[in-house]
Amino acid sequence: MLSYRHAFHAGNHADVLKHFVQVQLHEYMNQKDTAYSYIDTHSGAGVYALDSGYASKNAEYETGIAPLWERTDLPKPLADYLDLVKGLNPSGKMRYYPGSPYVADKLMREQDRLRLFELHPADAKILADNFRKVAEHAAAQGIVPTGRGKRVLVERGDGFHALKTLLPPPSRRALVLIDPPYEDKQDYRKVRDAVEDALGRFPTGTYAIWYPVLQRLESRSFSDKLKRLQGKDWLNVSLTVSTPGPDGFGLHTSGMFIVNPPYTLEPILRQVMPYLVEVLGKDEGATFVIESGEPLTGSSAARPSANGAVRIPVGNARRASPLSGTGSLRLPGQAPAGTPGAAGAVGPLGRSPAAKSGRPTMKTSGRPTAPTSGRPTGPKPPRRPT
Ligand code: SAM
Repeated sequence: MLSYRHAFHAGNHADVLKHFVQVQLHEYMNQKDTAYSYIDTHSGAGVYALDSGYASKNAEYETGIAPLWERTDLPKPLADYLDLVKGLNPSGKMRYYPGSPYVADKLMREQDRLRLFELHPADAKILADNFRKVAEHAAAQGIVPTGRGKRVLVERGDGFHALKTLLPPPSRRALVLIDPPYEDKQDYRKVRDAVEDALGRFPTGTYAIWYPVLQRLESRSFSDKLKRLQGKDWLNVSLTVSTPGPDGFGLHTSGMFIVNPPYTLEPILRQVMPYLVEVLGKDEGATFVIESGEPLTGSSAARPSANGAVRIPVGNARRASPLSGTGSLRLPGQAPAGTPGAAGAVGPLGRSPAAKSGRPTMKTSGRPTAPTSGRPTGPKPPRRPT
């Protein structure tokens, strides 16, 4: 099924969460000089025009990237993400929004390798055209990639299948982003199977999975299934921007599930998520959840306490001042720091340790009892973000 076009949703709250987290993952990978591969199994078109074409139709960016645009009080990690988006808009006017391939291209080095897959023929062409221009521009400036093989490979094809062929990567370092449309409920199973297979081939890779929280069963049980994947550990963050309506339509909550996350990410999320809830939240239902832990076994995914898991709920993040999005932010009941715990798609693109072994499962949420997937019943949405 290839009806999904990401341009309709470019720059919405789900993109903000996804790409903000992606920036943090690249920044961690860049701390070492050793090359790494970035594999984007579902790349989309790469860049999206916000003021024309599909993106302007529902203007989802107006409640996503737009509220952040003029803010001067952004926590530093969020500012890094916004700077990247602003780099694509040198006039200062918010006109273009970067997709995950662009985010990666901006942050990755000459020695690193981007492997980008997109199945939709139109978006695959736009993506390839964009990166062809990047390569031409770089060549004209005498920039040549170091190491073996092309720096960027764009392929029209099935990203789930491609992942099997690329692991383990030559550099033995990899960041994988898996971001399918989920219009087809099989995507939930395919993601889980793909990461399970990938972990077998390359256990130390970092696997970042975007997911929607919708009413369909596959969606509601998804993060619990991912917690069983046999990586070293996992980190799960979700952002809810509003109370779901009685009709159940719309995308109110999305999440990023990371298998083998960098140890730096959880403190960053604790700093930034209350701020995102404050700025992007539309009503009192706005909240966030941060959970982390080691792979669950047996029946513990359904009943976390059966595995000795500890979940620590905290106060309502909407009460937190946006200015408190600093290292000192500590919400009521929160564990102390350190506690274990295409029409619209455009170009061209420009290039410009603490191991947590033995840690119990941790959960930090913006509401005392907020589950990651508690949603009212009603008709299921026909597609991902609407
Ligand atoms: N990752 C992109 C970003 O953040 O900018 C957005 C990707 S969008 C949510 C999902 C994309 O996956 C769509 O462009 C869709 O055409 C593509 N797609 C669907 N099934 C695919 C598959 N099996 N392999 C590769 N791409 C696929």
